[in-house]
Amino acid sequence: MSMFISKPIHPFLQIRAGNSHHSSRLLPSKDKVVVVMGATGTGKSRLSIDLATQFNGEVVNSDKMQVYEGLDVITNRITAEESCGVPHHLLGIMHPSADFTCTDFCNMASSAVASILDRQKLPIIAGGSNSYIEALIDNENSGFRSKYDCCYLWVDVLMTVLHQIISERADQMVEKGMVEEAREMFNPNAKYSTGIRRAIGVPEFDNYFRLEARVNEETRSKLLQEAIYEVKINSCKLACRQQDKILRLRNDKGWDIQRLDATDVFLKYGKESNKAWKELVLKPSKEIISRFLNS
Ligand code: ATP
Repeated sequence: MSMFISKPIHPFLQIRAGNSHHSSRLLPSKDKVVVVMGATGTGKSRLSIDLATQFNGEVVNSDKMQVYEGLDVITNRITAEESCGVPHHLLGIMHPSADFTCTDFCNMASSAVASILDRQKLPIIAGGSNSYIEALIDNENSGFRSKYDCCYLWVDVLMTVLHQIISERADQMVEKGMVEEAREMFNPNAKYSTGIRRAIGVPEFDNYFRLEARVNEETRSKLLQEAIYEVKINSCKLACRQQDKILRLRNDKGWDIQRLDATDVFLKYGKESNKAWKELVLKPSKEIISRFLNS
């Protein structure tokens, strides 16, 4: 039967079938870039690090707040330990009050992608700022699409479950020092319209910091709870907007975005949760990327 007859492999295809994705450079095909999308709290960072470890990659951050230095807790920036030695680009590189624009992101992300490919590694763009990702990829001037083949992964979590996760995460952030971080940003005369001061977790505490010294303990505690509640509400709204945007890119703009349902990862605990991550997110992602790199 023909399926058992091994055909001689064309030398070009042998190169392509090799283990380095970069060998595709010898072919007329384009260099390859992976994009990890998803709402806040879904596990984009974890997936990008797992994939970078597996496929010899480097991560390009596409979260517009994490490009700034500072507010590690509030912006949920990954720690050195969590990054597992995977190089990250555009992470904590801007002064907190700098005006980092979408154009800056496109220019810097393009340079980072080119430099990663020069090192014969796989660029993995990961973050929640979908308007920045859209600008980078669809901006005709940058020619990103004509230069690179992109594989889009979307870590999705059922919104009702994600809201619960976001709420619990905000409480953990408070324990890790969110209020103290926000206090360092507090300036009664400054607006919340530039730089890192726009991050969810900064403006929400304004009222609390203005009044805390003038009110009794009970009122102070109430104001603090209100501020934390606002952080939760605004983070949930952000998650909904991010999900809508991904759906729009997929359904209206025709981006070939592959959805990975991570809901079960968050409904389970400990080992069971890790198992669900491997089965439902990591394994299918690796398969998708292996096919993409060998295509
Ligand atoms: P938009 O069209 O709103 O600009 P976007 O996809 O470019 O969408 P988002 O990443 O959704 O940008 O960010 C929108 C807002 O959400 C930011 O201006 C900021 O207030 C908040 N935000 C985003 N990421 C974070 C973060 N990591 N930490 C805190 N706040 C964040």
